Amino acid sequence: MRAPEASMVHGLTAQQEGEASGPPPASPKDLPAVDRLLRSGAVQVLVQMHGHQLVAAEARGLLEAWRAQALAGQLRLADIAAEVAETQLAARCRARLAPNMKTVLNLSGTVLHTNLGRAVLADQALAHVTAMMAGPNNLEFDLATGARGDRDDLVESLLCEITGAEAATVVNNNAAAVLLSIAALSAAHPGGREVIVSRGELVEIGGAFRMPDVMAAAGAQLVEVGTTNRTHLRDYEAAITPRSAMLMKVHTSNYAIQGFTSAVDESQLAPLAHAHGLPLVTDLGSGSLVDLSAYGLPREPLPQDMLRAGCDVVTFSGDKLLGGPQAGLIVGSREAITRIRKFPMKRALRMSKLPLAALEATLRLYLRPELLAQSLPTLRWLTRPQADIRLQAQRLQAALAQALAPRYQVHLRDLQGQIGSGSLPVERLPSAGFAIAPVSGPGLERPHVGTALDALSKALRQLPQPVVGRIADDALLLDLRCLDLPAHEAAFLAQLPRLQEMLA
Ligand SMILES: *Cc1c(COP(=O)(O)O)cnc(C)c1O
Repeated sequence: MRAPEASMVHGLTAQQEGEASGPPPASPKDLPAVDRLLRSGAVQVLVQMHGHQLVAAEARGLLEAWRAQALAGQLRLADIAAEVAETQLAARCRARLAPNMKTVLNLSGTVLHTNLGRAVLADQALAHVTAMMAGPNNLEFDLATGARGDRDDLVESLLCEITGAEAATVVNNNAAAVLLSIAALSAAHPGGREVIVSRGELVEIGGAFRMPDVMAAAGAQLVEVGTTNRTHLRDYEAAITPRSAMLMKVHTSNYAIQGFTSAVDESQLAPLAHAHGLPLVTDLGSGSLVDLSAYGLPREPLPQDMLRAGCDVVTFSGDKLLGGPQAGLIVGSREAITRIRKFPMKRALRMSKLPLAALEATLRLYLRPELLAQSLPTLRWLTRPQADIRLQAQRLQAALAQALAPRYQVHLRDLQGQIGSGSLPVERLPSAGFAIAPVSGPGLERPHVGTALDALSKALRQLPQPVVGRIADDALLLDLRCLDLPAHEAAFLAQLPRLQEMLA
């Protein structure tokens, strides 16, 4: 049963309301006190659910907003009826508790989208994270001896088995792996800290990660050799002095230099480095662990290729083509990895237990390579056939067209997607989906097309599970490649009525 004040919190009777001609305005003095609002029956239910602090803070916020509206003459008595107060307060508490981070439907056409969190974890990785984080675990505890263990031990032998490396260690991300490898190996060198890199490989990966800056942060001196488009073995050779600490290769994974080009590959560079007693370090970036050409995709160099070619250290990301959590993987010779692991900076860059659990479970999937295209979402999406995506687009077109009518038209369209995260930059993934354009007619001139498309993409982003597409060629494109599971398709369809409301 409701408390009596719940139905007339603000001392307003139904009779008074009925007598007013036109909607009666509310003035600040009509607003209830916070305490009175909190005592009403339905609000008490909220207090029981969330506790006093949150509900009281939201009640004050609601009353402040009302006061401002009242002073502006924009509040009616009906707006502050008890039922309205309760509903609004419940909504404010819900909104306050809703996390900022939410899952989105990635229809951008870029499978590994850095702004959308890159790789999506496999079910096995998700389950392992949940299980491991629910209690204490053997993160740094050797269960065989009862002595202190090393967190690297959880994944080192797996990484060695998969890549053929002698030793491996892991850090927070690949930027950290590069920074740590350069710092540890150049600090160990007695003569100097010069790192020799080709001018064609002084890449910026995004954000503030530029190779020259990373060198400086690692306390090393960059020695550039060759030119932007061509670097030869003799260029490296001429740059080697007693101050040289290492030779370095950086895979230009987010762009391609094409035309009159020449680069020296690892198998030529390794003998030169070793003849001078220097290590060869390669930053591979995306780090696919399986040959993608077996899946009809273009081949990316593998860490195992780099090690076979004679590299002493190879670094790569965990959340690009590998399909795991954010991580920086460092594989190589026992000597180099031991140096890197012992360097004090390693402690500051170490991986946390949460992604480490995800990484171990993800790496275990590689022990059953025949199942990878099913078990690893990244590989599942990359290998999804265009015909399958086209069929899905045909299946969904009518429902989407109906939700967007009459202002927008939905066309089926073959699209070109991409892998993303700098992987295989010039390759395109033949895909399919929708091209959505505003319905043309009088009053819809060209400048309005952009405004109409912005309004639509904003509405899509504001759905409970935001939908992210891309605008190109005077249309909003929705690439369905990553919408492959029945649950994803159902989530997309379930939001269409809401989308229709938002656009009305
Ligand atoms: C992506 C990339 C990095 C940075 O890796 P993060 O895991 O994002 O820190 C460094 N080098 C190359 C070549 C890359 O492609």
